[in-house]
Amino acid sequence: MFGALLGYPAAVAIMAQVLPVSVPIVLGFLLLYFVLLGWLYVWMAAAGARERLRELRAFHGQCASCGYDLRATVGRCPECGQAIAPR
Ligand SMILES: [Zn+2]
Repeated sequence: MFGALLGYPAAVAIMAQVLPVSVPIVLGFLLLYFVLLGWLYVWMAAAGARERLRELRAFHGQCASCGYDLRATVGRCPECGQAIAPR
């Protein structure tokens, strides 16, 4: 990602010459590209963190959804109603 940023001005100049659009249009699309890439990165990192939290909660005998202590509970979580996976 940062390697692409280093060649950014040259890439914009080349694209503006090759494509039948002006430099601001190319800049707008590149900005949109990097903003969407950033959002995708943040979303994937958050999804990974959520999954890791669920794994840790299940490992420690807690509800994967809300974290309620399920060591003395059978069936469903009394806090949020989530079905408990058999251990
Ligand atoms: Zn729960």
